[in-house]
Amino acid sequence: MSFISRRKLLAGVSAAVPAARTLAQSSGSKLKIVVTGGHPGDPEYGCGGTIARYTDLGHEVVLLYLNRGEKGCPEKDPSAGSAVRVAEASKACEILKARPVFAGQCDGNAIVDLAHYDEFRRLLEAEKPDVLFTHWPIDGHPDHRAISTLAYDAWLRLGKRFSFYYYEVSNGEDTLMFSPTDYVDISATEPRKRAACYAHASQTPDKFYALQSQVTRYRGLESGYAQAEGFIRHAQSPGHGLP
Ligand SMILES: [Zn+2]
Repeated sequence: MSFISRRKLLAGVSAAVPAARTLAQSSGSKLKIVVTGGHPGDPEYGCGGTIARYTDLGHEVVLLYLNRGEKGCPEKDPSAGSAVRVAEASKACEILKARPVFAGQCDGNAIVDLAHYDEFRRLLEAEKPDVLFTHWPIDGHPDHRAISTLAYDAWLRLGKRFSFYYYEVSNGEDTLMFSPTDYVDISATEPRKRAACYAHASQTPDKFYALQSQVTRYRGLESGYAQAEGFIRHAQSPGHGLP
């Protein structure tokens, strides 16, 4: 029976999974953050305060939406999308100093198959993220579950090279059974998160922001801040890439 030392074990792990840059290690260099969401608005509601903290630190953030919020696909051309929802997403990204990207799927009709796994991986690979965020997969909305699976598959197939976190959105209605491993203090950036969420004026922000605000206040109670966003870090995620 051979004995594997802790040192050897750690060496093996680091050889198999190249370490991602962490915020501490990357002082002076700009990180690329990709926050994926089922619809325009999801990254803003789940991670808006954290996104504002990243961009305040000079890091580059991309909000990668699975669709343009256009119902009625596939009869309509998904690349055309909803002019209203796209304009709202642009405004929200402007507030958070992020850049919108659309994966071109249809709202309410997400497809997860080999072709779409490949397409999504290529899209993500082109962005070269240092940190990736996606929906928690236990979620009431099929588009949220779809992008969670697409993002996870891309992370695996790209060799788990970058940090990987799950976020929560519209708890009770969408996200369920979410117990954060990490928290980000958003007390100072909450006003910008609110403005970005309210930029999605067609999506009843009074209702949804009130719910999300309850969640961030509760996560704040848990973590000792006025308001916080909670995340689940994948157990094999290299580095710690939260601001
Ligand atoms: Zn959504």
